[in-house]
This record gives sequence, structure tokens and C-alpha cells, in this order.
Amino acid sequence: MESPPQQTAKVIAFANQKGGVAKTTTTLNLAAAFAEEGHRVLCVDMDPQGNLTMSQGIDPDTVQTSMYDVLVHDMPIRDVIRKREIDVACASIDLAGAEIAMSMKIGRERSLAKALKAVQYDYDFICIDTPPSLGLLTINALTAANKVIVPVQCEYLSMRGLIQLQNTLHMIREELNPGVDIEGILPTLVDTRTLHAQEAISLLEENFGDRVFASRIRKTIRFAEAPVKGMSVLKYDPDGVAAQSYRDLAKEVLSHGKG
Ligand code: ADP
Ligand code: MG
Repeated sequence: MESPPQQTAKVIAFANQKGGVAKTTTTLNLAAAFAEEGHRVLCVDMDPQGNLTMSQGIDPDTVQTSMYDVLVHDMPIRDVIRKREIDVACASIDLAGAEIAMSMKIGRERSLAKALKAVQYDYDFICIDTPPSLGLLTINALTAANKVIVPVQCEYLSMRGLIQLQNTLHMIREELNPGVDIEGILPTLVDTRTLHAQEAISLLEENFGDRVFASRIRKTIRFAEAPVKGMSVLKYDPDGVAAQSYRDLAKEVLSHGKG
């Protein structure tokens, strides 16, 4: 008897060229929420700052092999995956040099997409954290992705930045990855006490309609505490509102997939 065709992983990139909008926090905690639901999850750290790698208790300064080797030297991605709370394909400090090292490579925009093929049946979700730029590392992430989640910090909402990201996605669709689309825009670091935050969300909804997730991630100190312990907030404070907000987001994303 033939076995049923295997499902390939859904690949989600977390992108916004602005720093400090909770890309890394969202990548890890949504991944942890998927894992809690019984899904097999891989996080890929494409940011030379290595915050995602660090937030799982791994030091990017001392890792022997990293995404640099995968992107530049075609090392199998399995060789750079460390199993922690979540499986993480690690970043290292030398990832900062990857864009230049890759610049002469043929197919340089597709290096990550190619690397992920080797593990596409091993995971249900592959969550890619990106650096705060629209350079070659982010382009690799957007080219490898089925969907993009855009965390937006409501305090300093920048419509211009979102339009710039949409333009980049348009270009990626035309040239590299026709199927990629925005899964949703996620309001993060929401301070519910301020009118400004509510206004920022309204403005976001006026401009992007139902692309804005119903979930909102409120501002809480738990998000700063958990990474120091090498944990997601779901593990660090399982009963807190911070953990619940990412479980809610996971439910939203999982129900999209069924629709
Ligand atoms: P990015 O990856 O976009 O640069 P991070 O995920 O590293 O952003 O978040 C930036 C900082 O804000 C980090 O110190 C993080 O711990 C903190 N942070 C993220 N989300 C929240 C939140 N909901 N409430 C409070 N602090 C947060
Ligand atoms: Mg980050």
C-alpha cells in the first residue's frame, strides 16, 4: 500500500525593516504556541544580532556552525539546528558578513529556500526571524516563505515602512516567489492605557482592513524577562496574559490555514 503524500511545512517569515517591533519575540513565542498545539516547529535565525538564538540560551559568539555556513557554503541546515525548547537553526556573529559573501553567488536570493527543502517534511511550521532591513538576508526569508507576519509597534506606527515592505513583497512575488503573501499585521507592544495606541490600531485597520490580526500583543515586562532565562513566555509564565496572547495568535493563524 502506498503511504499518503506527506504535508510540507508551512514557512512563515516575520519581517519589518524597523528594529524593536517584536519580530524576534513574535517568532519565538508563536513558534512555542504552535509547539504547544502539538506541531513540529523549526525557528530559523536570519538576524546577525542572533537575538532569537540567544533567547533559547545559545551564545551566537561561540556556535561553531550557523546559518552563515548554510547560506554561504551550502552546509545542510540540519547541521546547524540545535534542539532546545524549540528547534533553532542558529545565527552567529559572522552572519553579518553573509550578504557580502553571498553577493557573487548565482541564486543568492534562493539559498534559504533551497536549504529548507531538506527539512520540509520534518516540520509542520518553519518560522524565520529576519534582521531590521530589507537586504539579502530578509529577501532570502521572503523568498523561502509561504506567508509573512508583520509585527508593528503601535507607538511609532510607520505607514511608510509598511508600504515599503509591501513594495518589496510585490517585487519578490514578480521575480522570485509568486505565492508569498501577508498572513497578517500584528499590533505589538500595545499600551492599552493610551489613546494613542488605540488611534494607531484604528489607522492600521483603516489602511489594511482584515489583514490586521484580531490578536493584539500587550506591553508587559514578561517579554523582557523570559529570554534572559532562555525561555519563551509560554514556558516562563504559562498562565500569564503574555503567553495567552500568543496562543490566541496561533489559533488565528491555524484557522486561516483551514479557511
Ligand atoms: P525586533 O526583533 O523587532 O528587533 P524584539 O522582539 O527583539 O524586536 O523586541 C524588542 C524589545 O522589546 C525586546 O527587549 C523585547 O524583550 C521587548 N518586547 C517585545 N515584545 C514586548 C511586549 N509585548 N511587551 C514588552 N516588551 C516587549
Ligand atoms: Mg530581532
